[in-house]
Amino acid sequence: MSQAAVLESNVLSPPDEKHRPAVKHLDFNRITDTQFNEAADRIKLEPEIQSLLRSPYRELIVQIPVTMDDGKLEIFHGYRVQHNAVRGPYKGGIRYHPEVDQNEVRSLAALMTWKTALVDIPFGGAKGGVTCDPSQMSRGELQRLTRGLTQKIDMCLGTYRDIPAPDVNTNAQVMAWMMDEYGKKHGYTPGIVTGKPVNLGGSFGREEATGRGTMIITREACQAFGIDIQSARVAIQGFGNVGSWTAKLLQRELGAKKIVAVSDVFGGIFNPDGLDINAVVRHRDETGSVCGMSGTEPLDNEGLLALDVDVLIPAALGGAITSTNVDNIQAKLIVEAANSPVTPGAEQRLRSRGVRIAPDILVNAGGVTVSYFEWVQNLQQFRWELETVNAKLEEHMVRAWVDVYSESDSGKVPLRVAAYSVALRRLGEATRQRY
Ligand code: GLU
Repeated sequence: MSQAAVLESNVLSPPDEKHRPAVKHLDFNRITDTQFNEAADRIKLEPEIQSLLRSPYRELIVQIPVTMDDGKLEIFHGYRVQHNAVRGPYKGGIRYHPEVDQNEVRSLAALMTWKTALVDIPFGGAKGGVTCDPSQMSRGELQRLTRGLTQKIDMCLGTYRDIPAPDVNTNAQVMAWMMDEYGKKHGYTPGIVTGKPVNLGGSFGREEATGRGTMIITREACQAFGIDIQSARVAIQGFGNVGSWTAKLLQRELGAKKIVAVSDVFGGIFNPDGLDINAVVRHRDETGSVCGMSGTEPLDNEGLLALDVDVLIPAALGGAITSTNVDNIQAKLIVEAANSPVTPGAEQRLRSRGVRIAPDILVNAGGVTVSYFEWVQNLQQFRWELETVNAKLEEHMVRAWVDVYSESDSGKVPLRVAAYSVALRRLGEATRQRY
């Protein structure tokens, strides 16, 4: 790595070159700042409240030494950023990815503050992550890394203080290890993390919750904008937890017959007549990728974004649609299942062409909403039925959609500006009441 790149890195001289964050092509803080400023100015949020919300409350950077399977010691870097807790305890996922750095975690933490306010659940916003490549690590190495991270950030966690959850490349198993490690010091504390296995105090419906929320917002947006979802051509970028559940639920519950393309990190598949999503899931489970499924044509991720579709659902990483590829986008409606998939420059161009964007803080808020239900169940020591969870998720998501859509309609502003306006008004009010 060049000296200049070293100086620009967010981590001060990490001892292990191997786990330095990969150099990124996007500044995520700039994306979230631009979106914040547009709405904060519109609703005339007081300058002191703006400045409170513009920076995080606390950031923790930790070293995590892990003995790898070959006996060598490797030093990883972990982050927990607590952005704001004016409406309730800090809440947000933990991400394992080679590109994770302090800057990215900071902007994702802010998104959580806006998200929890928008769906009106009593949480603030936080995010965590470790710079690592889980695809190159064994189960034992991941477990040791997770236990190490939990010990190192223990000082800022708590059932009423900060509650992690899964995010990119983490899952119920990782949450089980976190709960177990935390419990060694503090005793049995299921409410310390959400997204746990159902067997260990997790909630029914949590695994599919982000996909279910995305399905609900897609349904509402299609209805509002005159798109018939049953015959609409849909493309989904990303087939992890969020993308695959979204695809399954669009097909199963809304009867979407023309999901024409899906993709994962290895590439994508296309069938102009519509894919059988259950068959794609089976193929992915058997082979590790959606690629190569019979009866489909191959395409790459850029090709998927450029397809002639009605609805495009980016459900992978941030920065998928930028000023470089925005002119290829043909969709009428973009449903942001991922966090920050559209850059502000790209968004300006899409707005001028009349393309609607259902924003991330609304679309993917189903996950944290069911995390809230899981936390409540842990506090109550009482399990809710799946039907109860799904009915309450439906209520929260539809209410948030109505809030955003009516703000957008009455104020003649894009959905993102409307969503931020609703969230920032709630945060402004809570801040004034507290201080
Ligand atoms: N990682 C998810 C998100 O970005 C869920 C967070 C949570 O449940 O706390 O919204």
